Amino acid sequence: MHEMSLTEGVIRILEDQAATHGFTKVKTVWLEIGELSTVVPESMEFCFDAVARGNPLTEGARLEIIRVPGTAWCMDCSADIKVTSRVDLCPLCDGAKITVTGGEEMRIKELEVE
Ligand SMILES: [Zn+2]
Repeated sequence: MHEMSLTEGVIRILEDQAATHGFTKVKTVWLEIGELSTVVPESMEFCFDAVARGNPLTEGARLEIIRVPGTAWCMDCSADIKVTSRVDLCPLCDGAKITVTGGEEMRIKELEVE
């Protein structure tokens, strides 16, 4: 499963952060997931629970997912617009010449640690 390797990547980042900043326990992870990314939030939650368990750093940690809306730029009306998929038309002019500018990524926004 795609989300499983993503989750393992998140845990690795947490381990690096723990080593750098000297914390030993992660309580909450706020993870931003763009609406245009292929990541399924429910799968991330499921995988996080599975992977976090058994790791002393993340055992019992909570995953909070923040959805980031998709944004794009319309070449026809030179406007920043919101989109829900890569193939959306511009809501302002119905143009199809849009370039996605945000909402495709996944990143750790914030951590609560002790
Ligand atoms: Zn437009």
